[in-house]
Amino acid sequence: MSEVLVLNAGGTEVLQRVSLKHAIGMLYRQVARVREQVPGETFGPYPLPKSIELVKYIYTRWVWEATGRMPCTRENVLRRDCHRCAYCGRSATTVDHVLPRSRGGKNSWTNCVAACYTCNQRKANRTPTEAGMPLKITPRQPNSIAELWPRRM
Ligand SMILES: [Zn+2]
Repeated sequence: MSEVLVLNAGGTEVLQRVSLKHAIGMLYRQVARVREQVPGETFGPYPLPKSIELVKYIYTRWVWEATGRMPCTRENVLRRDCHRCAYCGRSATTVDHVLPRSRGGKNSWTNCVAACYTCNQRKANRTPTEAGMPLKITPRQPNSIAELWPRRM
């Protein structure tokens, strides 16, 4: 039996390889979904997977349990900030790096905030001080997975 790649939520990183049987079990338990399928082939009710992708909650829990740290993903930053823009308080759909990445800013909990598209564009490649856009919140690392993902899916 062929092996199936398991990718993180978002599909940017390979985490491990599992047997097809194991992969189908993960699809059945709804902890993963098919990312890439073998064209035209099926396995019971499922498209035959070449790779599967963990659902976001499971991915977050997986990293949390493996490293003791919450992964600083776009989804998790938006959840921490309740989908509110850190600059204007309106509904946020993007993540802004307080110190821009192009200037050495890290993809870390203390350097990432939720931002609306307009503020993100306006701030561009500047610090909040340079842009005259003070932060309304102090970004911090969440203490537990339950803070961001209070309910099981
Ligand atoms: Zn905004």
